[in-house]
Amino acid sequence: MKEALLYEKLPNHSVRCNLCAHHCVIPNGKLGVCRVRKNMDGVLYTLVYGRTISQNVDPVEKKPLYHFYPGSLAYSIATPGCSFRCQWCQNWQISQMPQERDLIAGSLAAPEQIVYRALETGSRSIAYTYTEPTIFFEYAYDTARLAHQAGLANIFVTNGYMTQEMLDVFHPYLDAANVDLKAFRKETYHRFVGAGLQPVLDNMKLMKKMGIWLEVTTLVIPGINDDPSELRDIAQFVAQELGAETPWHISRFFPAYKMMDTPPTPLATLQQAQQIGREEGLQYVYVGNISMEGNDTLCPNCGRALIRRHDFGVIFNRMETDKCPACDATVAGIGMSHHERNWQ
Ligand code: SF4
Repeated sequence: MKEALLYEKLPNHSVRCNLCAHHCVIPNGKLGVCRVRKNMDGVLYTLVYGRTISQNVDPVEKKPLYHFYPGSLAYSIATPGCSFRCQWCQNWQISQMPQERDLIAGSLAAPEQIVYRALETGSRSIAYTYTEPTIFFEYAYDTARLAHQAGLANIFVTNGYMTQEMLDVFHPYLDAANVDLKAFRKETYHRFVGAGLQPVLDNMKLMKKMGIWLEVTTLVIPGINDDPSELRDIAQFVAQELGAETPWHISRFFPAYKMMDTPPTPLATLQQAQQIGREEGLQYVYVGNISMEGNDTLCPNCGRALIRRHDFGVIFNRMETDKCPACDATVAGIGMSHHERNWQ
């Protein structure tokens, strides 16, 4: 067990964890909401340091990040646990493991081993993903620093519920993030996720300000967040507060966890959301979790297809630099040229 970072001691051997926006006050002997941080005699410990429940080599498109070294590989890791309780979680077996089974399983892997495996597999980056990476902050932080020394980039796939304090510490090592914006109604966050909306919105703006490459994902769920007015609110927020160049991924819901009776998102709803995103001025709106047209990256100026994708693969990438080869307009992103793909 490793002592946690970002907490403060309180009277009577209690502690306050300042890692995520829950700011749990944890009495002696108890766990925080994430159930992977424990107060033992007034000292907060992380129970998941080095304990991976998942390690995979994924296309970076699977995160999804479409404007960050397209076509490259991301060595992807997770530990058990999460700060959210999303009723539709697609990874609930690992994210809710400490809650549902009172168990923290996984194989031990030191940060050095993770970086070594990332290099060995030709990965361009390490992605902290599948569960909420904020809750394994200390492990991610040590790994991310070594990754930078080795020339690898770092990616967070996150619910965006960390504190500013956490981002202040981590951001020099964080190159890109995909933030899951689950809804634009605080009631939905409270009822179905067990958290608040505002910290997520604030953190996305902060990440942008810090220079972290940002893409946003919304899982569109029938009856939860598929109202066109709510989808328009999300698109407006992304366009106005984060910038029209910020990619928005609209993802298809499939029945999972506690929402097995809700049907998959109809194709028409996804197409409507994509249309709304474009009407609100977003330059890059993609549809995920489904095989359909519309996932090419088009030049925002002349409309030429620059990157063509199928599922998680890149079929072609016409970018020689970060500019459209036809009209010289800038295409937002990091490492967009196809030359960046084979970097080693
Ligand atoms: S990470 Fe968040 S949920 Fe976990 S103990 Fe800290 S404040 Fe609570």
